[in-house]
Amino acid sequence: MTRLCVPIFVRDIEQALADVARAGEAGADLVELRIDQLTDPADVQRVVAGSILPAIVTCRPTWEGGQSELDTAARLKLLSTAAASGAAYVDVEVRSLAQQNAPASGAQTIVSTHDFQGRPDRLLNLVLQLNDAGGEVNKIVWTARTIRDNIEAFEILLNKQKPTVALCMGEAGLLSRVLARKFAAFATFATLSNDQATAPGQLTIADMRQLYRWDAIQKETRVFGVVGSPVAHSMSPAIHNASFDAVGFDGVYVPMLVNEGYESFKAFMETFVRFAPLHLCGLSVTIPHKENALRYLEEIGAAVDPLADRIGALNTIVITRPGDGANAGGAPTLRGFSSDYAAILDTITTSLAISRDDLARHRVAVIGAGGTGRTAVAALAETGATVVVYNRTRTRADALAAEFNGRSGKVVAAPMEKLCDSCCQIYINTTSMGMTPDVDASPFGDQTPTLTPDHLVFDCVYNPMRTKFLQQGADAGAKTVGGVEMFVRQAAAQFTAWTGLEAPISLMRQVVEARLAPT
Ligand code: NAP
Repeated sequence: MTRLCVPIFVRDIEQALADVARAGEAGADLVELRIDQLTDPADVQRVVAGSILPAIVTCRPTWEGGQSELDTAARLKLLSTAAASGAAYVDVEVRSLAQQNAPASGAQTIVSTHDFQGRPDRLLNLVLQLNDAGGEVNKIVWTARTIRDNIEAFEILLNKQKPTVALCMGEAGLLSRVLARKFAAFATFATLSNDQATAPGQLTIADMRQLYRWDAIQKETRVFGVVGSPVAHSMSPAIHNASFDAVGFDGVYVPMLVNEGYESFKAFMETFVRFAPLHLCGLSVTIPHKENALRYLEEIGAAVDPLADRIGALNTIVITRPGDGANAGGAPTLRGFSSDYAAILDTITTSLAISRDDLARHRVAVIGAGGTGRTAVAALAETGATVVVYNRTRTRADALAAEFNGRSGKVVAAPMEKLCDSCCQIYINTTSMGMTPDVDASPFGDQTPTLTPDHLVFDCVYNPMRTKFLQQGADAGAKTVGGVEMFVRQAAAQFTAWTGLEAPISLMRQVVEARLAPT
């Protein structure tokens, strides 16, 4: 079983021992006592003997990214003390072993190597060197240059000759930390709190266990993720992992940082989809890759929903893998669609208690002509609704209207200044106006159209949950619905496409609202 290890930097013995107790309460299997700043063997003895959890003891030199300025002989002597005091493991850099033998001890030796600059040039040779170094456990850690480095870490784990830790540091390396258990690593590292990280990209133990379902991850667990740049603050991992938990689905959902540009996206897809042991089964796609995703799927001849094709972007990829149902034994097949499309329509029809067919009798103001505006116009035009596009840059509104006019319904553009004179029944804000921190802005400006309870004011902005635009709509007597509803519905459509199960929508809503609630 892969151990969940909490690193504790020992500056004060009592504080360190209190942190060990907190790590135990948080569910750690192991702690790593970083004694870089200790020089007195008595302190080492005290902290190691006092640890209520099995401990790895590490005295990392400055030349390997640590803080110890002692020479190798002095550091290894402190590690001998640690071993004699009951440490389960001592961590010794492979470069230290080149200078001096491992400390004779009762503890097992973890032979380690770290590269903070990037991937070591001769990675596999380095693994061979670790294998030959005589320790019981190998540990290889480097800074991920791109997300693809995680796959090399997984390959090292799959081909290991000894219990091994293989981790990538940095945001792009998050997968290697969360999925260490899937690939039967010896351990992964997670901190007690964000300010106690001892390496870039370490997650907290709470996030590892609650957000990323650490305890549920197994060899066959299916992997899903959100691909974008940036992705660190995406709410999608919280929504999907909580939903997997709620319905008992064996999956884990992680942020996947993929650099801008089509070539980066394509390289990511080629590497990740092909690497069968990962069981990658679905992706959410966000900025800046929604267009790249469509281009890639079309390039490889995958199935693409015609509407995503018309919108020119998609946000969902379903990957059916060999062994999954009808595709058993074959190569993975990919399918792409836009879950924003259904989310926009469902948000409107549910709020007004009407069917999609009823939309043909409605006149809708779409404010904005960016990605979301385009999706809204394409979706509504398809239903036969009459759509009026309002946008700050009028030429973009004109171009969008011309592109979708007459497909099924009528689409025209109108000047933004005329929005409040419009006779639409539905108003959708797809611009970023009103979004935190610009909370005093609203597409309506300081007035509102004449509205009744038969009107709907729908804001795609979800942060804040209650925007000025929604408040104005409510004050004028209209029904209102915020961006959370759209966000939840697009996530629900993805969830169902990936799992074949009904999404726990109210739980999803709860998760998003809790994340967005002012603290
Ligand atoms: P986008 O492609 O960059 O489009 C931005 C749009 O906003 C453009 O039409 C732009 O007008 C307009 N705009 C920006 N700043 C403005 C300002 N100060 N005054 C007037 N118009 C302004 O962005 P997007 O990806 O479509 O996202 C737009 C919003 O939708 C964001 O707030 C996003 O969070 C939200 N969204 C919500 C969900 C959800 O699930 N709830 C999903 C997707 C997006 P110009 O053409 O004149 O530049």
